[in-house]
Amino acid sequence: TTKPKLSIQDQRRSLPIFANRNKLLGLIKSHETLIIVGETGCGKTTQIPQYIHSARLEESGCIGITQPRRVAAISIAKRVAQEHGGGMDVGDLVGYTVRFEDVTSKKTKIKYLTDGMLLREAMFDKLLMNYTVIILDEAHERTIHTDVLFGVVKNAQKKRKERNIAPLKILIMSATMDVDHFSSYFNNCRAVYLEGRTYPVNMYYTIKPHDDYQTACVSTFFKIHREAPPNYDVLIFLTGQEEIEAVAHQIRILSKDPEVEGPPLKIFTLFGAQPSTMQLSVFQPVPEGHRKVVISTNIAETSVTISGIRYIIDSGMVKVRSFHPATGLEMLKIQRISQEQAWQRTGRAGRDSEGCCYRLYTRSQFELMSKSSTPEIQRANLNSVVLQLLALGIQAQYFDFMSKPPPDAVAAALEQLKLLGAIEDTENSKLTEIGRKMTKFPLDPRFSKILLTAQQYGCLEEALIVVAFLSGESVLLNPSSRKEQAQIVRQKFCSGYGDHVTLLNIYREFSNVGQSNKRAWCHEHFINMRNILNVREIRSQLEEICKSCDIPSSSCGSQMDLLRKCLISGLFMNVAELNRDRQYVALHKRQAVCIHPSSVLHGQQPHLVLFTEVVQTSKCYLRNLSTVEAEWLLEVAPDYFKHVNIRTK
Ligand code: ADP
Ligand code: MG
Repeated sequence: TTKPKLSIQDQRRSLPIFANRNKLLGLIKSHETLIIVGETGCGKTTQIPQYIHSARLEESGCIGITQPRRVAAISIAKRVAQEHGGGMDVGDLVGYTVRFEDVTSKKTKIKYLTDGMLLREAMFDKLLMNYTVIILDEAHERTIHTDVLFGVVKNAQKKRKERNIAPLKILIMSATMDVDHFSSYFNNCRAVYLEGRTYPVNMYYTIKPHDDYQTACVSTFFKIHREAPPNYDVLIFLTGQEEIEAVAHQIRILSKDPEVEGPPLKIFTLFGAQPSTMQLSVFQPVPEGHRKVVISTNIAETSVTISGIRYIIDSGMVKVRSFHPATGLEMLKIQRISQEQAWQRTGRAGRDSEGCCYRLYTRSQFELMSKSSTPEIQRANLNSVVLQLLALGIQAQYFDFMSKPPPDAVAAALEQLKLLGAIEDTENSKLTEIGRKMTKFPLDPRFSKILLTAQQYGCLEEALIVVAFLSGESVLLNPSSRKEQAQIVRQKFCSGYGDHVTLLNIYREFSNVGQSNKRAWCHEHFINMRNILNVREIRSQLEEICKSCDIPSSSCGSQMDLLRKCLISGLFMNVAELNRDRQYVALHKRQAVCIHPSSVLHGQQPHLVLFTEVVQTSKCYLRNLSTVEAEWLLEVAPDYFKHVNIRTK
């Protein structure tokens, strides 16, 4: 039973939203703010902007559609450009803007952008005059940026009305949301519900809890693979790149076992750090008689829809960013999903026909899950957002948030901004010269601070490279089958000073390799070529911003002490020391932590380390580290360290 292949225009016409397009356009025309709720995959994100454009509702302005994830913004813009056709590429009528990448032009009328980028635009144009229509998509995700945008966009609409200038239309879209809450925030605006098409999904829970959900994913997959007919595709939800690659690898190896019977397999992975060409290939149908298996993060939950999926394997886990004002640490944490997320994942099996969902948790574990996820604004580090709001002339304490952030998190952010020198003091949070410069960088204020102090240490060149690495995706490839080999060939880059200097060494050698040999060099050293080229691009964009802030270029050559001191100037709250029991504790509020095995310092036990990131699984692991000296701490960040006890060696 194969469906005939539809042309791209027929695909558009076959979407559930198509039959309602005139009614929908009528509502969009007659309401200044409208909530649109419709099943994932019904066509909201790809079609509605095209309908609006074909009716020329945007007039002389543009239609901006926000997405919480860059992957989604890019892949959807490419798809819509293709749908629109007429020999136009992405960047013409349809474009996208994500951090460090702007693929738009004067011709662009339909612009997909991450919520973070629209917020940056608002810093330079509070009334968002480029836009006549703003669509806040995936509103249920409640990312910190979307939550701030709700207030910013609402205010821009009001101000434009008061001043009687080009009205701003706001659409809020999602597959699932608390409509009453959203509607009351947006002045009791109207909500429309779009019909979707869904088929029943059979659900299975595990009887006993699994202690290893990765292994459970693999064994559940093979159970399905042996029984299900070809072209019954499978979607597996996991939490991040490492897990996804490990499971893909195991499935690939095991499927080659002659004992395993099943149709030929095509394995696809989907996660944020991936090159976008790879992400697009996942949408292509696989040949007749094959089976597609897609292993994805929660991006496939509501942001993108892959057709042909009949089976879902839900690990029940997700990686989230969370901040604990009590410990001052922000971490990436792997935790249970909410019930709402579980239902969204399940629904992905019932888009084209009946499906099955294997939940790798028990029914009672499901019942213990929270109903919906906590908005990010109530669990993340707020220093960046508080600074952005200040640039908009708004004090976070008085902002019209849909859900208020916890007061101690706002206080912690103000405290941190004060220590970074971005504001005068925590009561009168007026931006300083440094603070104003910080807002020019699309970076966490801690990283902007590093670049702004680099002049003092004469290491701007090195700081730019390190900050670019920390802002891009990982360049190190570690294929499970050749992990050891990768480590051996990259050994020569490893520095006793830690991961930052190691990355710098990689970059320096990469730059010295001739253009025509770069690909071979990357291959030989297990370096992701696209990602390192992206680091180079980020570096040059940051360099431009530094120039505009009048920071002269400088290099510290081989004096790595200067670079590491410079890193302390932004990351002083991220220092851990080895205690008498040979355990690490973060100096800030003394949380127990340990060095992640991926670090070059793993197993070395230096006395003091500066870290960039914390990942919490069974323990709190520190990633991307540098060794530092005790006396530097007081020298570089005296205001902070005068209150902190550091053990002498
Ligand atoms: P919604 O926003 O309502 O969840 P979308 O507009 O994202 O829905 O998707 C509508 C349809 O377009 C889906 O059926 C999906 O399969 C298809 N689609 C989206 N992106 C692509 C792509 N890159 N290639 C092929 N089909 C796509
Ligand atoms: Mg969508």
